Parts: sequence; C-alpha cells; structure tokens
Amino acid sequence: MAIDIKNKVIGSRESRLGSVVDFSGDLQKIGEQSACNGCLGNKKRCFSQASSCSSNCALGQLSGINDAAIVHHGPSGCAGTAMGIASSFDLLAEALGRERNHFAYTCTDMTESDTVFGSIDNLKDVIVETYNRYNPKAIFVGASCVSGVIGEDLDSVVEDLADIIPIPVAPVHCEGFKSQIWATGFDAAYHAILKYIVKPPQKKTNKVNIIGFTAGTSWNTRDDIKKLLDILGLEATFLVASATVEELEHASEATATITTCGTLASYFGVGLEQAYGVPFIRSLQPQGILGFEDLARQLGKLVDKEHEIEAYLQKEQAFYLPKYEKIKEQLKGKRAMIAMGPGSGFNHVRVLQEFGMKVEHVSAWHFDKQYDDGRRPESFQYILDNSPNNFTYSVNDLQNYEFMNILNKVRPDVFVSRHPGSTVWAMKLGIPAYCVYDEYNSFGYKGTLRFAQTLLNIIINKSFAENLSKHVRLPYTDWWMTQKADALQIEE
Ligand code: SF4
Repeated sequence: MAIDIKNKVIGSRESRLGSVVDFSGDLQKIGEQSACNGCLGNKKRCFSQASSCSSNCALGQLSGINDAAIVHHGPSGCAGTAMGIASSFDLLAEALGRERNHFAYTCTDMTESDTVFGSIDNLKDVIVETYNRYNPKAIFVGASCVSGVIGEDLDSVVEDLADIIPIPVAPVHCEGFKSQIWATGFDAAYHAILKYIVKPPQKKTNKVNIIGFTAGTSWNTRDDIKKLLDILGLEATFLVASATVEELEHASEATATITTCGTLASYFGVGLEQAYGVPFIRSLQPQGILGFEDLARQLGKLVDKEHEIEAYLQKEQAFYLPKYEKIKEQLKGKRAMIAMGPGSGFNHVRVLQEFGMKVEHVSAWHFDKQYDDGRRPESFQYILDNSPNNFTYSVNDLQNYEFMNILNKVRPDVFVSRHPGSTVWAMKLGIPAYCVYDEYNSFGYKGTLRFAQTLLNIIINKSFAENLSKHVRLPYTDWWMTQKADALQIEE
C-alpha cells in the first residue's frame, strides 16, 4: 500500500488498515482471522466508558514539538486532554534544557451559534493572533468533531493565510468522530508533518530518526542510546517529543528511522521510506533483550558494522546476563495479564515471556492486522510464531468494565498496563499492578534487568493491593463480574 503524502486527508485505521476495536478470542484465533481478508470484521461500539479520541491524540503528539503552535478548531472542551499532554512536554523540554518559549496551544472555543453560522473568520483571527503573539516556526490547525460536522474547510483557510503568515501552517484532519481508534490521530499528525514540514533531502546525514512518545530522559536512557549509536557512527534525533521544526524538516536526510512502538510510528516511518527512501528498520522494538538485540543487529547490518555490534552485545551480555538470570529464576511461572495498545502489548508479552512468566491474557486498545506497507506488525508476528501458550486475547478501547470482568477471571500475579487509569482498577481487585508509562522502561540490558527487578518487587510486595481491595466497594456487581466473554461481545 502506498502512502501519498500529497493527499489532503487520510482514511481512518479502520478503513485503511482494517483495524478493529473489538475482539474476544485467543492469540491463534486473531492470528488466523487477521490473515484472511474480511474474517476480522469490526463491530460497532455504541457505548464508550473511558477512551480517548483521535483529535486529542493527534494534537497531543504535535504538542511535543517545542517551537510549533497548535490551533484547535473546536469547543474548548475538546482541547482539554491534549492541553494536558502539552504541559507534560513543558517538563520534558525543561529536563532536556530545550527552549519552548514559542510553543502555544490555542483553541477557537466554538459555540452553539458557531455550529449554525460557522466560524472560519474566527479561526483565521486565532491563527494570526497565535502567530503574532508566540512567533512559532509552524502552526498546526487541528479539527474537532464540531468543525468537521459543519464542514469547516481548514485547507482553504490555510491557503488564504499563506501570504500573511510566512511559516508552514498545516491542517490536521483529526475529527474525533471519524475513527473509534485514537491511534488514527497519530497518522493524521504524521501526515501533516510529512506533507507540510518535512523537506526533500539535500544531503544524507548520519542521523537516526527515533520515533517515540518521550525522548529517553528517564534512567539516562539517552546515554545508553548514544552508546549504541556511537558504535555505528550514528546520531539520534528524537521525534517528535521535544523536537524542533528544523529537526523535522531534515527527517528525510536520515540514515534510518527506528521506533519504540510500531503502532505509533508506522505511518511516519513508512511515509519517510516511501517518499524519501529513508529505511524504516523493521526489527522488533527495543523492549527486552530480544528486541534490543534485534534492533542493534539490524542497524549494524544497515551501516555494515555487524562485527562491532556483536562485540558490543557480547560485552554487555557478560556484565548483565548473570544478574538477569538470577531474577528470572524468581519470576519464572508467575502469571500476568497485559493491557496496552497493540504494539506495546505484544512487545511486553515478549518481554514477560523472556522472563519465563506466563502471559494469561492480553487486552489491546485496538488491533492492527497490518501497517501501511501491508506488513503484519513484527511484534505480533514474533508472538504468533514463538509464544509458548495460546493466551486469551481481547480488543477493547480502554473499556475498564470489560477488562475488570476479565481480570476477575484471570486473577494474575501481576497486571501490566500502559495507561494510568487502568492499573488502579486491578489494585482495587487486590491484584498488584504496574503502569509501564515510559516506553524505555525495559530498554537494553540495563533496562530489562531493572524492569524484571521492579516486576518481582511488585509481585512479592502485594500487601498494599490486598489491603486496598478490602476497603473498596467496586461499582460492578458480582453478576457483571461473572459474565462470560460472549456477554462482552459488541453489536454487529
Ligand atoms: S467532541 Fe470529538 S474532537 Fe472533541 S473531544 Fe469529543 S470526540 Fe474528540
């Protein structure tokens, strides 16, 4: 499948990739159904308890760019979540010592009368005012359900302003109602970057685009990444968290693109490869030892430094593996349930299975059977081929009421999730839980060792979760908690 970066609008993940937001079965079943055209039908969810939307996702991502501004064309409520994400990027920029004075997040605050008469003039005023006040290097104009439903033409506004504002002004077609998969917003954001920001390459550089949610600040991971890339003669550019517009402009000149999460980065990685020939490294993602070694070896192969990489890996192994093996002995056989986006979910299944743990169930916020190049996600294929057990698998977009029912049945030794609002529910059931909020939690040998130790501590010290559960009254009845998986199925 080809990505055309000149397109005005891209389709949702449901329409482009056949991604789904519901499934109840097991690993092998989703493997079989996703390999056959039309077998994995998406169903409609008429109720959503706790989810996000693609508008917030897209504009939250773009908020990571330190010298860009966001203009959200919608009611102020739509801007709430993304603005929260934006302020966490302020902290990230400060931690990295990067300037963020030109960043702004503004909103047109559409009203009821705007939905009748439109508010294009107001949108133009807000864009111009945002430019004049904050002097950003680019402005992203994000859609919302309301601006989308009344057909506000963002592209025309941007064209009209081209003579007035001398920086890229990029419409982001991320209306929330277009997709039940918030990750569609990643694609809308990266499409806007590919179309309006990235420039054709002038030269080849030794940079590696690292597409992630953060920029590797936790646990000094940036130093570990630097150590790896130094061996290969490469340098990191972290995108888009805490990046600059200039760094994004030169993304087309990089030696390669890598990522910590295929769900996040596949559109950008494939787009850069197809439009500008930047190789998108299709390794396992660098969580856990298998993922880290696969990425390191594939990068080494790309730049013809396979011997250097093997020498480096052997040195690291000699130092870390003896300690790691000791913790593995204690984790062996411990039972886990995982709930995350599909890419991170399969990556963490692999990591826990590396520890010798038994993954009993995985809940994914949605499921991609393929990416934009038509390939199956590597993390999924690896688990399909290598998982020692056929764990049960469900897809629900952060619907707590569903995975509470599943948690109650599975009763794992530990619940591992990636969104903070979900771990608290496992704790209320008396199940120790860990929120893997940082994508670099198990990066490389050092990170994997630390992650294994943390999991072990959580599993051993479970008295907090147990005590909490004795003092919490759940909003779910016994009747609900004992319903079978069929009752969780969604309307056709
Ligand atoms: S109204 Fe639409 S764009 Fe706004 S927050 Fe809700 S789903 Fe997202």
